[in-house]
Amino acid sequence: MGGRPRKIKKISKGTFVTVLVINSGSSSLKYQLVNPENGAAIASGLVERIGEEIAFIKHAYGEQEVKLETPVADHSVALAKVLELFDQVGPALSEAGIVAVGHRVVQGGSYFSGPAIITDEVRDLIEGFAPLAPLHNPAHLKGIDVARELMDVPHVAVFDTAFFQSLPAEAATYALDKEVAAKYSIRRYGAHGTSHQYVSGKVTEFLGDSELKQIVLHLGNGASASAVKNGHAVDTSMGLTPLEGLVMGTRTGDIDPAAVFHLSRVGGMSTDEIDTLFNKQSGLKGLTGDNDMRAIRDRATAGDAEARAALDVVVHRLIKYVGAYTAVLGGLDTLTFTAGIGENDPDLRAEVCERLAFMGIKLDLEKNAVRSKEPRVISTENSAIKVLVVPTNEELAIAQQAMSLI
Ligand code: AMP
Repeated sequence: MGGRPRKIKKISKGTFVTVLVINSGSSSLKYQLVNPENGAAIASGLVERIGEEIAFIKHAYGEQEVKLETPVADHSVALAKVLELFDQVGPALSEAGIVAVGHRVVQGGSYFSGPAIITDEVRDLIEGFAPLAPLHNPAHLKGIDVARELMDVPHVAVFDTAFFQSLPAEAATYALDKEVAAKYSIRRYGAHGTSHQYVSGKVTEFLGDSELKQIVLHLGNGASASAVKNGHAVDTSMGLTPLEGLVMGTRTGDIDPAAVFHLSRVGGMSTDEIDTLFNKQSGLKGLTGDNDMRAIRDRATAGDAEARAALDVVVHRLIKYVGAYTAVLGGLDTLTFTAGIGENDPDLRAEVCERLAFMGIKLDLEKNAVRSKEPRVISTENSAIKVLVVPTNEELAIAQQAMSLI
């Protein structure tokens, strides 16, 4: 889920239907109570440092925000505390209108091409895909198990990989020995699918055209690109795991896998050390020491050559993907920016579009400078390709997908 704060809107009690959206991590539980019809975030919060000496809890509802520091032994205690906070701070559970719980799940393997009501069988399938997402799926299951125990409503799993199950075989297949690939389930699954589906769907809705060749650039701390044709994903930049593709906050994105052999043989590094290096110490952080785009942008503006060089790597990678996906799509109608950087960094959008001027892209600089929470076109009337900014909302997308099943 995107970590940006969302506006908490107060709504008269007892008059609405809501979905509680849960994103459970190994030592954290984030949640948002969403009205799936109008997208309002009615309440939200998180429990961090579960299992450590002192946990941090935050719950926000309307104007009220409560912060607590207290021991929270496990996810079961965490959720019990959250439910208590709903009753103490609001909205009271008896009046919150919760009709379903939507759980974010990173990896649904080749099995789930859409959301699923969580039965015991579905739960076990999610567990079965844990080797493909060892940090995420077991952590999601902690939240799923306690929520199913404490909340007697349908629970729905919404998979980050589902939207990319439509990838044609040639896009999903690595040119690896096919028996090894099959034995270890190695293929391109993609990630951020909930966001790419939501944003590409919004573009379709906003332009009133369902036959579009779209590229969506989800540029947050994690970053990914997708190529979407007539509403179906045909390629995406994340692969077996979210490590592949664009330059990210702390991840390398594309890198020659032989770098792993080299670091192992010559650098004497272990697999775990290389995993940490590629996932946590690389990307913008590895290039500049900072993983926050705002800080890097400020440094570059002040003339810092290291920050400028890192931005050049980011833009170069983006241009490469847009070019490649335009070829994959056989043309391009829309290019859409979303997530923390995509929505909030007009300079990056301008730099990318400037390099794409050869494709007939013309950015309207005034429109590009406008800040808004609404979907908008930022290209000129005569641009050959429409450029848009569409704020993503993964919590709302999860809530809507959960509602579609109950
Ligand atoms: P997300 O993962 O979608 O929450 O996005 C986080 C990223 O968005 C971080 O790199 C932030 O620095 C970046 N971001 C947020 N606001 C801005 C902004 N005004 N300008 C540039 N980057 C921003």
